[in-house]
Amino acid sequence: MSSLRIAVIGAGLAGVSAASALHEAGHQVFVFDKSRGCGGRLSTKRTPVGGFDLGAQYFTARDSRFRHALQHWLDSGWAAEWTPKLYRYTDAGLHESPDAQQRFVGVPGMSALPRQLLAEVTFTSQTRITRLHQADDAQWTLEDDSATIHGPFDRVVVAAPAPQAIALLDLAPTLQHTVAQINMAPTWTLAIAFDQPLPTSVEACFVRAGPLEWISRNSSKPGRQDSDTWVAHATTAWSAHNLEASSESVAARLSDALAEVLGITLPEPAFAHAHRWLLARPVEERSWGALAAPELGLYVCGDWCMDGRVENAWLSGQQTARTLI
Ligand SMILES: Cc1cc2nc3c(=O)[nH]c(=O)nc-3n(C[C@H](O)[C@H](O)[C@H](O)COP(=O)(O)OP(=O)(O)OC[C@H]3O[C@@H](n4cnc5c(N)ncnc54)[C@H](O)[C@@H]3O)c2cc1C
Repeated sequence: MSSLRIAVIGAGLAGVSAASALHEAGHQVFVFDKSRGCGGRLSTKRTPVGGFDLGAQYFTARDSRFRHALQHWLDSGWAAEWTPKLYRYTDAGLHESPDAQQRFVGVPGMSALPRQLLAEVTFTSQTRITRLHQADDAQWTLEDDSATIHGPFDRVVVAAPAPQAIALLDLAPTLQHTVAQINMAPTWTLAIAFDQPLPTSVEACFVRAGPLEWISRNSSKPGRQDSDTWVAHATTAWSAHNLEASSESVAARLSDALAEVLGITLPEPAFAHAHRWLLARPVEERSWGALAAPELGLYVCGDWCMDGRVENAWLSGQQTARTLI
């Protein structure tokens, strides 16, 4: 196949995975994202007190193809294994709960991984694509929210979360109908830091009582040289119930919940912020891998084509690249 000009909309891991595979196959790839940086839900918020992984906390590597790619990332220093002191919190209290699961993180933050993978591809940030157009000669152009036209392109990959992908699929109604079946649930995230380390040995905790479902001591991950930074995720139910609450009130309530789980009184934080993910995780699990209308040269990928995990976002992007090639 001769070299194609391919647009990828969305620079989360699915889009980045597709883009890097298509670039390696000799195509000219152009990635667009509405955000300031790349990574999507693999995000690291930079603050004066350190970085916080606000979205994905760590990733597993169960699939052999993903393990193969991961080995390269480990060798390159883009990722490392994280072996936190793991706890579980239930109505019965807090107890140590080690397990055999291998966990990996991006270094020095989760967003480092997509950034490295995108290094050789043309990336346009802060550009929200609002419409796709296809001319009679089958060439695609992309329109952004300031009415600027990008292109032409031979193929388009849409790698946005399903509810955001729908608006871009008007020219492929069957595909659009399939994507519209996907529901995604919200998550409120607390990022909080302290000047002095909290007096606890907890580095990660699965929470099964109260508003939280997960706590991690962000600064215990490899390659972080921060003050004592923590990230806590609220449950889907609590997040949905408090969707319209102010960030300040959510930060205060989740800080109280964090103190309760850890069994300590929290000192005045050096930093505290609550971030709302409207589209955090797909509700249902699918086995689509990726979707396509190949007759149009239109391809769709994302974690929601499988289930909401980092590994599946990468696999979905790889499947799109294979189908397209
Ligand atoms: C709170 C939270 C905790 C999580 N924890 C874990 C975990 O511990 N382990 C794990 O494996 N997974 C976890 N996940 C899931 C994991 O983050 C995702 O599965 C994965 O990152 C999804 O990648 P993606 O590329 O499919 O989508 P995204 O990362 O959402 O990327 C989509 C990109 O498309 C862009 N975009 C959307 N619309 C447009 C448009 N119109 N124009 C331009 N750009 C657009 C967005 O800005 C975004 O960058 C978590 C997710 C959240 C939110």
